[in-house]
Amino acid sequence: MRGLVQCQLCPKACRIAPGQSGECRIRINVDGKLLAVTHGFPCAVHVDPIEKKPLFHFLPGTPIFSIATAGCNLHCKNCQNWEISQANPEDIQAYDLPPERVVEVARAKGCTSIAYTYTEPLVYYEYALEASTRAREAGIRNVLVTAGYVNPAPARKLFEVTDAANIDLKAMDDGFYRNVCSATLGPVLDTLVIAKEMGVWVEVTNLIIPTLNDDPAMIHRLAKWVVDNLGADTPVHFSRFSPRFKMKNLPPTPESTLLEARAEALDAGVHHVYIGNVPGSEGETTFCPADGTRLIHRIGFTVKSNELTAGGCPVCGTPVAGVWE
Ligand SMILES: [Zn+2]
Repeated sequence: MRGLVQCQLCPKACRIAPGQSGECRIRINVDGKLLAVTHGFPCAVHVDPIEKKPLFHFLPGTPIFSIATAGCNLHCKNCQNWEISQANPEDIQAYDLPPERVVEVARAKGCTSIAYTYTEPLVYYEYALEASTRAREAGIRNVLVTAGYVNPAPARKLFEVTDAANIDLKAMDDGFYRNVCSATLGPVLDTLVIAKEMGVWVEVTNLIIPTLNDDPAMIHRLAKWVVDNLGADTPVHFSRFSPRFKMKNLPPTPESTLLEARAEALDAGVHHVYIGNVPGSEGETTFCPADGTRLIHRIGFTVKSNELTAGGCPVCGTPVAGVWE
């Protein structure tokens, strides 16, 4: 067909006819050129605690300027932000916030970092890249919250100006990715390794959905993969599922499942394992990996106390991996 353009950004490699968009809904073939139509037009703009991303070992207790545009290249049946991630950009309200203004507004709001988050920053790629480049020049740090489903070359380019990333590892199972997310596992693992290689501070989130990815053996494999490929100091967050979007038929994740997952991952050698969406759990606290001293006490997204001393345990002096200032 005349005028088709193939998108090079993610493994879906959409072939897009004139006037049409790729699967992400926002990259449109305009006269033979791909245009990300949400560039400079975020639909969500908030200041969040950085703990909400979640990032627990990166500037704890600080506010982070957080933006998103419409669109996503995945279509997870349980998406918690489906109203914006699975929307056509013309159907939702957006702000006019070009990349240079992102940095100005972040600074005006007292934030020392910016998160590209909520939907999928890898599809509003040029916007995230340009804002990140400007933020870095201005001494503001950049955080990606992403499913990591992207090709290696664009990943490397964006990671050059990325300081930290929370990357979903949704299941250690290709079938889960295909059935629940309309994606595949391999490229996500590649992205995780590339981010780590490039010096991005990486934390991993695994949302546990009852019956679909809660098998302890799979959790153990996931944790073992993290230890072997990203290192034992890479924090892993097990997050609680809530029924929503196209997955209202399953119950919320029992707390016992999350605690069991945490035990599996600690057993596999991960030093810092957290539990998300269960406020008050000890899975929100950072402990010294050597002697168990409580280092950062959190309740929900609030840091109650931070005993880290020069980036380490005040009792035994063991350094704790992270970006602390
Ligand atoms: Zn210690």
